[in-house]
Amino acid sequence: MNVADSELMAQVLDEEYDLTVQAEDADLYLINTCAIRRKSEEKVKSLLGSLKFLKQKRPQLILGVGGCVAQQEGERLLASAPHLNLVFGTKGIYRLPGLVDRAVRGERVVDVALERDFPDPPHRSWSQGTVQTMVTIMCGCDNFCTFCVVPYVRGRETSREPGAIVDEIAAFVAAGGQEVTLLGQNVNSYGRGLPEPITFPQLLRRLNGLPGLNRLRFATSHPRDLSPALINAFGELSALCEHLHLPVQSGANRVLKRMNRGYTREHYLGKVAALRQACPGIALSTDLIVGFPGETEADFRQTLDLMREAGFDQAFSFKYSPRPQTRAATFPDQVPEDVKTDRLTRLQALQDELTQKAHARLVGQEQEVLVEGRSKRSPQELGGRLRTNQVVNFIGPRELVGRLARVSITEAHPHSLKGRWVQGSSTG
Ligand code: SAM
Ligand code: SF4
Repeated sequence: MNVADSELMAQVLDEEYDLTVQAEDADLYLINTCAIRRKSEEKVKSLLGSLKFLKQKRPQLILGVGGCVAQQEGERLLASAPHLNLVFGTKGIYRLPGLVDRAVRGERVVDVALERDFPDPPHRSWSQGTVQTMVTIMCGCDNFCTFCVVPYVRGRETSREPGAIVDEIAAFVAAGGQEVTLLGQNVNSYGRGLPEPITFPQLLRRLNGLPGLNRLRFATSHPRDLSPALINAFGELSALCEHLHLPVQSGANRVLKRMNRGYTREHYLGKVAALRQACPGIALSTDLIVGFPGETEADFRQTLDLMREAGFDQAFSFKYSPRPQTRAATFPDQVPEDVKTDRLTRLQALQDELTQKAHARLVGQEQEVLVEGRSKRSPQELGGRLRTNQVVNFIGPRELVGRLARVSITEAHPHSLKGRWVQGSSTG
């Protein structure tokens, strides 16, 4: 979502500014920020400090901070950094050109208004050869999980009009695009509050009908709202990739309850079983928090146990970090840092094993890869992703970039797979 927001910033400023890769050349330097954990917030403050030298070299430089930390801190951020010209919150992105103008005229600007509606995004155009894009379909969140700052910094949940989403994606496909990821904090509740009654699975069906759209993904789904209609969509819609990111956070009912997640481990595992029945090859990834207040060793072991039972292909795991305004930050039974670190290490070791097993199962299979470009590690190889989201590297001609190719999987590595191009196979 932050990557999509940064792209949006570049788009709304497109008429006035060009992008540069040299910070020293910039007339405008914007930092997009994340407030989900304290560490990301600290990084912003240290980057901001280190940019003082840029401002000394180029006094006309306009320096701005946007996103969730800006939303959370507002005026305080401006007061703490005299060299900062502009603070804009999560909805301020859409008003950036006007805000930047004011900053250029010498004003120190703060815009952290969090209005409810879904602002009109700018008209997007895609450069030749762009095969993947992200499209934000909702903003905000109404769930108030007790650990999470999102509802405070991104405001109430609001869905975007389906017609605007379909038009944007149709234009992307017409320009040669192949893969779209729909974004929202809880896409499963898409459509609530819109004048035209529509559910998320209905939106997926409309998009699946767009000729030329080969791959459709989305993030993130809240397990409580994962409906039977959405589960069945995985077996039915040809464009919908066989991968679901379904954050579970914990495997212990006591912890889930205190997190205000609205489901139990049994519900979660029941949904996993239904997904595997509707779509046998589906890959599942998740988010996990260790050391949530009051989490005992027995609770933690339940999380490890659930990970094995669900058989996750991938997991993003974090030490619990107390956040301003959230309920869990006030819980008295905070877990010591060394216990969190120990649990995170054990959990990640288990996930490495599960990922390796999932990768090993793919060896020997022929799979479709959307070729994204040269592989990061070895430039003579091409890299891309399977429909199930694993990274595959293989040797093949440059012309395959931006196309779908058939690849036979030959080796499983901890974070990627190796394959052999099935000569002559490419489409798109
Ligand atoms: N809306 C998504 C959902 O409910 O699954 C998650 C959005 S959040 C931006 C991404 C992940 O950050 C969460 O799934 C959670 O694992 C993690 N996270 C959120 N707040 C956290 C906190 N206070 N400490 C540690 N991790 C946190
Ligand atoms: Fe945060 Fe996701 Fe919970 Fe919303 S559903 S409060 S974004 S963790």
